[in-house]
Amino acid sequence: MKYEAVIGLEVHAQLLTESKVFCGSSAEFGGDPNSKTDPVVLGMPGVLPVLNTRAVEYIIRMGLATHCSIAPFSRFARKHYFYPDLPKGYQISQFELPFCSNGHVDVNTEARGQQRIGITRIHLEEDAGKSIHDTAIAGHDSLVDLNRSGVALIEIVSEPDIRSAEEAGQYLAKLKQLVTYLEICDGNMEEGSLRCDANISIRPVGDAEFGVKTEVKNMNSFRNVERAIAYEIERQTNIVESGGRIVQETLLWDANVNTVRSMRSKEEAHDYRYFPEPDIPPLNISEEWVDSIRAALPELPEAKQARFVQNYQLPEYNAEVLTATRSLADYFEKTAADCQDKKLASNWIMSDVLRVLNDTKTDISEFSISPEALAELLNLISDKTISAKIGKTVFEEMLESGGSPRKIVEAKGLMQISDAGALEKIIDEIIENSPSQVEQYRAGKEKIFTYFIGQVMKETRGKANPATVNEILREKLKGA
Ligand code: ADP
Ligand code: MG
Repeated sequence: MKYEAVIGLEVHAQLLTESKVFCGSSAEFGGDPNSKTDPVVLGMPGVLPVLNTRAVEYIIRMGLATHCSIAPFSRFARKHYFYPDLPKGYQISQFELPFCSNGHVDVNTEARGQQRIGITRIHLEEDAGKSIHDTAIAGHDSLVDLNRSGVALIEIVSEPDIRSAEEAGQYLAKLKQLVTYLEICDGNMEEGSLRCDANISIRPVGDAEFGVKTEVKNMNSFRNVERAIAYEIERQTNIVESGGRIVQETLLWDANVNTVRSMRSKEEAHDYRYFPEPDIPPLNISEEWVDSIRAALPELPEAKQARFVQNYQLPEYNAEVLTATRSLADYFEKTAADCQDKKLASNWIMSDVLRVLNDTKTDISEFSISPEALAELLNLISDKTISAKIGKTVFEEMLESGGSPRKIVEAKGLMQISDAGALEKIIDEIIENSPSQVEQYRAGKEKIFTYFIGQVMKETRGKANPATVNEILREKLKGA
């Protein structure tokens, strides 16, 4: 029997609001432990939470970008559990009336082509603090840092529409792309501002019913999400194939040893005793407010991609790569604005610029060559002042010295030699000095042509115009 996986993801994204979601303490990452707290964060008796409107605006942005319905009426709920990093004994979250529901995102997968992944709901909640179990701190086993406590968090719950580890990765990448385009979250999985829990089950191919699921937590990178899901699918398949049964449980991914550990079983599952949060009035969200948020949305990746194909006549694939992030797309557009050949700009950014960024692990926003300087270089190639090959040399020089491409070309005398008279003289000499190669060529050994090209390039230090050289060489070698 063949099995297929059924996967639903619960993704948490920390919102980039300045203050926390229900009080005025700073929501900034880091700082001295417990320096970003106040009576609300500490859960003191008698305090009242006050909702951060910016957080609601941000979650609505995400809801609109993922085609969700925005609830005209919604409210918060208390989710109760005990944990040392949750001083008040409950988390303010949403339960039966989330802000956003019934959305979707489309992903491109290798195995199944374009797939629509449903979004069940997106709700707003507060983050918890952090327990630090570091026995190296003298005299302590565990410590609590409440700086993260109360930071605005959205939870995006998907339908069980995902069918493989690869698709889960694609879906997560799409969410990261959206939150960063919307500028509501920095999308950093390593620092925990984007987090993902995976619900996984398997079923015989063709079955309509779902199998028993497990939930895998604690995966703090894209690579770990895909590895953990692949591992769990294999683990479940092995159990079922050897006649066993899957038990519903929560598992922790351990990236050090590439395996999962059980955290709790269904019997220990929480009863959160949700009830409506009495300290925050329910929210009426007006159509006008939603409309004004919609009108202020930035151009989103899919629209940008379509416009790049249309405006710059780029292949679909190039447009997709160049719109991966807003800053890369902006870099391309600024370059293209000053560039005669838009396709050339696209090719150079996709190969040379992205290679450098990848090698140096830098973001395009910190790239040392400005779009204007790159455009200047590419125009020197387009108007045949330099050859494409010399262009690469100048590019390397620009990386090192930061100089202007035109100045580098002038200072180093790199201008392309297109003058037929000058090239003819060089070529005549080479032919004169290579009687045996000429003979071989004329005897039909076509391949030796590259030898002559090489000689001309050597003689001109790569500056000869390849097209002109080609033409003259062919003519001369005919042996007129
Ligand atoms: P729970 O009550 O255990 O939290 P939910 O119904 O709220 O479960 O779903 C949580 C997540 O699990 C959602 O993303 C959903 O798509 C996914 N899910 C639900 N059932 C299954 C299943 N049988 N296999 C895989 N994922 C599932
Ligand atoms: Mg649930």
